[in-house]
Amino acid sequence: MRKIIVVLAILLNFAGISFANEVNIFSARHYDSDVQLYEKFTAKTGIKVNVVSGKDKALQKRIIEEGKDCLADLYITADAGRLGAFQAKGMFQKAGSSTLKKAIPSNFRSPYWYGIAKRARVIYYDPSRTTPPSNLSYEDLADSKYKGKVVIRKSSNVYNQSLVASLIANNGKKKTAEWAKGMVNNMARKPKGNDRAQILAVAAGEADYAVANTYYIALMLSGKKGAEQQAAAKKVKPFFPNQDGRGTHMNISGGGVLKHAPNKDNAVKLLEFLLTKEAQQHIVNNTFEYPMIEGVQPNELIAQFGLNFKQDLKTKVSKYGKNQSSALKIMTEAGWE
Ligand code: FE
Repeated sequence: MRKIIVVLAILLNFAGISFANEVNIFSARHYDSDVQLYEKFTAKTGIKVNVVSGKDKALQKRIIEEGKDCLADLYITADAGRLGAFQAKGMFQKAGSSTLKKAIPSNFRSPYWYGIAKRARVIYYDPSRTTPPSNLSYEDLADSKYKGKVVIRKSSNVYNQSLVASLIANNGKKKTAEWAKGMVNNMARKPKGNDRAQILAVAAGEADYAVANTYYIALMLSGKKGAEQQAAAKKVKPFFPNQDGRGTHMNISGGGVLKHAPNKDNAVKLLEFLLTKEAQQHIVNNTFEYPMIEGVQPNELIAQFGLNFKQDLKTKVSKYGKNQSSALKIMTEAGWE
């Protein structure tokens, strides 16, 4: 009898069926604090969490190449554009969780992947030099009156691709192509550096307006990026664009259950845990993102800039992945490096 059980266990193991109570996360989020969060999940549920961290492209490549043999249950990353493009390759399965549906507003999820935290892509300025018009929009930044005054990163950056994808969704391809040309004309320098580098350029007086995500100003203010960046961040302020219209461009960190997940139930449990008050509070205090759920306050370093700005809740973030390649094409054709 014992022999039969052993043989059975070996066979099941070969078939990829595992008895261990665990969940395997492939994460492109580069936060140590996420690991502490997974430890809390283990303490609560007894489910062991194994994390493989890496760059998006490398993780996605590995998941695709390993196919059915891939041990990953959950893929977690930043930007809805990435999640949408990965789903377009058929890599996720539906979690089928009413808890997730209830917790996450419909514009911040798809049937296949779920927003965990929110971020806005905003405009930064130095109030000692610049007073932005109260109705300033992303569209306005392409106006010739801002020639030589704008910094923004390269077209290869996924945050920019998602922003431009949202412009396509709202204004159409033709208008967005004109807008991209205007933006290239208005650039104070060739696109270079990360989001923080754009904020630093405004602090240094190299440009009047920078486009960057919200959490970076808080990260710089926190001192985690050094005293120099902290001092620079104190000089600038975020401006929330498109307040007279559809609202400020929003994006997410999020994740989805992978098609061949060996531990689907545990993966869903973990996603549900990430949307609890406890987990959300941990996330926003460490990453300076906005919470996905009601009843959780963002960290003070980001809350100080106002919480009542109008978010674009009309443009579904699932549009970003769909319009991503058109967005890149439009930027490239406009000469946006
Ligand atoms: Fe980022």
